[in-house]
Amino acid sequence: MNRAVGDFNPPTRLLCGTGPTNPDPRVLRALAAPVLGQFDPVFTAIMHDVMDLGRLVFRTTNERTFAISGTGRACIEAGLASLIESGDRVLVGNGGRFGDLFVDIATRYGARVSQVQAEWGTILDPQAIADAARRERPRLVCLVHGETSTGMWQPLDDIGAICRECDALLAVDAVVTLGGVPVETDAWQIDMCFAGGQKCLGLPSGMSPITYNERAERALAARRSPVISNYFDLTQLQRYWSPERLNHHTLPTSMTYALREALRLIVEEGLEARCLRHRRAGDALKAGLAALGLELFGDSRHRLPMITAVRIPDGVEDESLRLQLLNEFGVEIATSFGPLRGRVWRIGTMGYNAELQTVLAVLQGLEQVLRSRGVAVPDGGGSDAARGAYAASIAVG
Ligand SMILES: *Cc1c(COP(=O)(O)O)cnc(C)c1O
Repeated sequence: MNRAVGDFNPPTRLLCGTGPTNPDPRVLRALAAPVLGQFDPVFTAIMHDVMDLGRLVFRTTNERTFAISGTGRACIEAGLASLIESGDRVLVGNGGRFGDLFVDIATRYGARVSQVQAEWGTILDPQAIADAARRERPRLVCLVHGETSTGMWQPLDDIGAICRECDALLAVDAVVTLGGVPVETDAWQIDMCFAGGQKCLGLPSGMSPITYNERAERALAARRSPVISNYFDLTQLQRYWSPERLNHHTLPTSMTYALREALRLIVEEGLEARCLRHRRAGDALKAGLAALGLELFGDSRHRLPMITAVRIPDGVEDESLRLQLLNEFGVEIATSFGPLRGRVWRIGTMGYNAELQTVLAVLQGLEQVLRSRGVAVPDGGGSDAARGAYAASIAVG
């Protein structure tokens, strides 16, 4: 190496993309604590706390509630790799990129996949899912609770009962929703539920809670073939995350402290209060963007609070604007994927950042950079509308 590599002092950003979001300082402090070995009794007690706190946050009594070492996608892959055997029928509800992800992973593990599709920016018709489940008789139904690519919020209350009636397992991607809107694992009869750290839980990316019930556990135990993946084999991982402590991989112990602290923060705040906070921030942002003259994307009846999708005004160059916003205001927002790339921004108000303060900072930055590019935007950047919606939002909560 012929150059000096200096200190690294990353700038402080306001992370309002689709994750990671800014962790609470308490989570960052937990990461800096001394490293423990994975079988140290002090550490195994931390694993227990994660399981206990995870049950409260997932609203479940499932014994099998732990965390996958990896991001949200790893969590989903662990679930599908462990449930699917070659030739199994899997039904996927697909209204965006994370529906596509279910299709991709299930296909790789040998499933015969059928889909119920919704146009991007709309939700799936629950009746169409029910009809397809009754017709196709899948072993597994996979649904995305919050479709981060489009900002759509899929209602899930009735589908669990239909899956039971069809003798199918229900697996749900709650990666973006857990800790931001209600996720009722037991009441909705979700058999396996996936989360992700760097969304509303407010961790840096790298660890992802999972929970599954006895129906799912029985399906794992009844496999005819071993799980193809070693790293993502839930039949082994569940024995590691149990008093048995069967050695599997070396758990990222520091990230486990951070996860414990992030879950503890949620339980301290209370799920209801936390969901209300996310709703208020999301309402404020949506009202502010509309007042700024921008058009919100997707079906207005089913918008997620923690991810707001908004159309990029005609003639505005997406990438250079986001870079300007980052450089001048330290604010990160995201574009979208596939057909929406360069056409829709997605703005996250998750976890620690689900606050009016974040919303006003985003609006102010957008106002200035849009104006600098010749877009006529009102003075104040919609912040009065945002304040108004924020105040009104508590009245109905
Ligand atoms: C972010 C996200 C994922 C993937 O999570 P990674 O942490 O990026 O692996 C999956 N599903 C949804 C709905 C998400 O928002």
